[in-house]
Amino acid sequence: MREAVLCYHAVSPTWEHRLSIHPDLLLRQVRLLRRARRVRATFDDAFRSAAMVFPALERIGVPIQIFVCTGYASEGAPLTIPELAGDDPDELATLTWDELRAHQERGVFFGSHGVSHDHLTRLGDDELRRELTESKQRLEHELGRPCLELAYPYGEHDVRVRRFVRAAGYERAYGLYEDRDDPYALRRLDLYRRHSPVRALLRLYA
Ligand SMILES: [Zn+2]
Repeated sequence: MREAVLCYHAVSPTWEHRLSIHPDLLLRQVRLLRRARRVRATFDDAFRSAAMVFPALERIGVPIQIFVCTGYASEGAPLTIPELAGDDPDELATLTWDELRAHQERGVFFGSHGVSHDHLTRLGDDELRRELTESKQRLEHELGRPCLELAYPYGEHDVRVRRFVRAAGYERAYGLYEDRDDPYALRRLDLYRRHSPVRALLRLYA
């Protein structure tokens, strides 16, 4: 059975934000999609709130992966990117290295989401290289395992970015929209609060 890699962000029963999904809806989406595909649940930005669904996902055997912005993980700082200015900093809190290590011990996988959640396609060569290399090295240093996967912030990439990602030593990278035969442009299905389980399933075939 093919694998569907799902992309989520924050999880909350109360926070009505486009990046936040109710835990019950997330689990209903996953349960329905599992009838059609092997499912992996990935969580971008390492929001602390995402961890509330990990036990339920583990119980049904769904692998969990967190894509971490290493510039925020030292203190679990809220993700302060321009696109989220004005949003509740408590809801945007991220997991600290200690918390990430504890999740790793229970079987969670990791990957890089860059250092600062920048738009990689807009960066000069030096900055781009730094986002890719520094985040990879930091994850490997903090978690003690090779970091071979990257999720592009905003799903944005182009030929140059993909070339730099390969050169930095990653084996795979995930965008959001494409579905091509390129390990550096792998598709994920990003699911939000507006997707009923049936709509989520239909998007698999879109
Ligand atoms: Zn992100």
